[in-house]
Amino acid sequence: MSDNCIFCKIVKGEIPSRKVYEDDDILAFHDIKPAAPVHFLIIPKMHIESLDTADMSQQLVLGKMLAKAGELARSQGLTDGFRTIVNTGRIGCQEVYHLHMHILGGPNPLGVMLAH
Ligand code: 5GP
Ligand code: ZN
Repeated sequence: MSDNCIFCKIVKGEIPSRKVYEDDDILAFHDIKPAAPVHFLIIPKMHIESLDTADMSQQLVLGKMLAKAGELARSQGLTDGFRTIVNTGRIGCQEVYHLHMHILGGPNPLGVMLAH
């Protein structure tokens, strides 16, 4: 846990969130500023700063985030695909330095990967 981390506070229940799923290792909750009709985040409960600092000691929780993505997306109505994004570091425009995977989707295709 990191004292000043928004997502650690969400894990601890100190900041409310609209939960999608929770178990001992991961938490999924809707993004406060959705960028698509369905937009939620999957995070490890343990504080991992970013994909850049993640390592092999965290492979179980990292694998779980990916392995659960499809099931959780379907639970939110995304039955025909979705996009995952993990923004990392300065170049990746990461805003919250607690690793998170965005799950985005809706009724229509999301379009190009990046806006130029
Ligand atoms: P990043 O740019 O770091 O990949 O994405 C951070 C995401 O966290 C943004 O999409 C932002 O809307 C979301 N976010 C930031 N603060 C909160 C919060 O307090 N609650 C929720 N549910 N989402 C948040
Ligand atoms: Zn954290």
